Amino acid sequence: MCGATHRGFKSHLLRVCPTQLDADGAVDDDAAMRLAIIAAREAGDRGDVPVGAVALRAGRVLATAGNARERLRDPTAHAELLVLRAASATLGSWRLDDVTIVVTLEPCAMCAGALVNARVERLVLGAMDPKSGAVGSRYNLLADPRLNHEVVVTTGVLAQECASVLSAFFAERR
Ligand SMILES: [Zn+2]
Repeated sequence: MCGATHRGFKSHLLRVCPTQLDADGAVDDDAAMRLAIIAAREAGDRGDVPVGAVALRAGRVLATAGNARERLRDPTAHAELLVLRAASATLGSWRLDDVTIVVTLEPCAMCAGALVNARVERLVLGAMDPKSGAVGSRYNLLADPRLNHEVVVTTGVLAQECASVLSAFFAERR
């Protein structure tokens, strides 16, 4: 049912069902997470661990990205870092203090640190990562009073769907 590019958005790789848009074209957390899941699946199809991320401002999609560590042979090419870079390029600023990042898997320490450095306003996340998550599982870098910025966090958005994209990917490789 999805698949049509919605006219009026500037971001790339955007497929939004019209029913997911409210009157002023904003997407809610669930709809944004569905876009992140699409980006995750695309990453998996390219042989990367399927994690996807979306950047939103005022509910409008600025950018989407999937993990591209294998494809780019870049240890820093996690979905969150790619979507932060794309959002900064779109907005012309490193400071993303009115931006929400939506990601299918709890960010690692590198990505959580980048979210703090970008002054991101809010993070919406799907599945938790008990092994290396840095938003409550192993560390909590987004709510550490020793750092100069805190990020508002919403957890558990379409968590099962996000986790099943990952478990299906690893099951196929076993
Ligand atoms: Zn990461």
